Amino acid sequence: MASVELVGVEKRFGSFSALQHLDLSVADGEFLVLLGPSGCGKTTTMRMVAGLEEATAGEILIGGRRVNDALPKDRDVAMVFQNYGLYPHMSVAQNIGYPLKVRGIGGPDREGRVKRAAEKVELGPLLHRKPRELSGGQRQRVALARAIVRTPQVFLMDEPLSNLDAKLRVTMRAEIKHLQHELGVTTIYVTHDQIEAMTLAHRVAVMNGGVIQQLDTPEAIYDRPANLFVAGFIGSPPMNLVPGRIAGGTFQAPGITIAGAFPAAGGDVILGIRSEDVTIAAPGEGSIEGQVYASELTGEAVLVTVSAGGARLIARAPRSFRGGFGSPIALNVDAGKIHLFDEATGRRIA
Ligand code: ATP
Repeated sequence: MASVELVGVEKRFGSFSALQHLDLSVADGEFLVLLGPSGCGKTTTMRMVAGLEEATAGEILIGGRRVNDALPKDRDVAMVFQNYGLYPHMSVAQNIGYPLKVRGIGGPDREGRVKRAAEKVELGPLLHRKPRELSGGQRQRVALARAIVRTPQVFLMDEPLSNLDAKLRVTMRAEIKHLQHELGVTTIYVTHDQIEAMTLAHRVAVMNGGVIQQLDTPEAIYDRPANLFVAGFIGSPPMNLVPGRIAGGTFQAPGITIAGAFPAAGGDVILGIRSEDVTIAAPGEGSIEGQVYASELTGEAVLVTVSAGGARLIARAPRSFRGGFGSPIALNVDAGKIHLFDEATGRRIA
């Protein structure tokens, strides 16, 4: 096990800058998730740690050792890819044992380790099968077993669950979390799925445009997003974001007036409020008056989209909510749960 550090790392492909001055420190045993939209530089970051891509500038350290010039095989990392990368002509046992074979470990030692790794991911009875004779979830487990068969210093996982159906993804997510906890191996995990990031990570690095936007615990990222990008990216449904002005301690937008403990220094801001922090009131009794635009039963709640002035806000209502299209409705917001962002810079103000 080991820490992983990226210090001032940059990556350019020709004239295109994919990563700009990345500083990232992953503690020994930590589960760190790189989260962001397509093209933000997650995979490139991981490939540089693995040694599959060279950093244009900066230093990469594994266990305190500079590895910029080390070959992938000398970095003692194990990767799990989105498409699993299994060898089709090899059996499950041969696939799992491959990292041992290339390191010259054979005989009963290899056999024993393969068996133990397979048992950990409940593949014991399938060791003789070929990958084509397995389900997607079973293939995924073979890839995991191959990663854990020799306790590397670091696991690197690149969207390992994205080829699985929704139900299996939830099951495998818990398995990965349990396995990482049990083995305690430092893990860097790439995903564009915020639920995966929030549920798995000790800390999440939210990336956009080759820059880390925020690096913190899932709770902190959800409760105190550092800027508009993070606020809009994390949460389902996404945070309500309403452009407006603060004047005399009151937030004002067309059709919306919210009095609260706003900073005296006003100006143009974006007010953020999550759907669960918005409550529904009778018409005339809320700080936001509007009409029902749509209501959607999600199972345990109803998401009510409300048109108010020029904005649309989503409130999470109890499942008993009844309100037809266009009916008048009022909303109140929990003043303590309001997020404020600078309109010009997108940065969090409060
Ligand atoms: P995804 O979720 O789609 O895999 P990502 O966040 O992992 O996206 P990267 O694969 O790291 O993104 O790519 C980051 C940026 O670098 C993208 O704009 C991509 O087009 C660019 N890029 C990646 N590899 C190369 C390459 N070999 N040559 C040129 N540009 C590249």
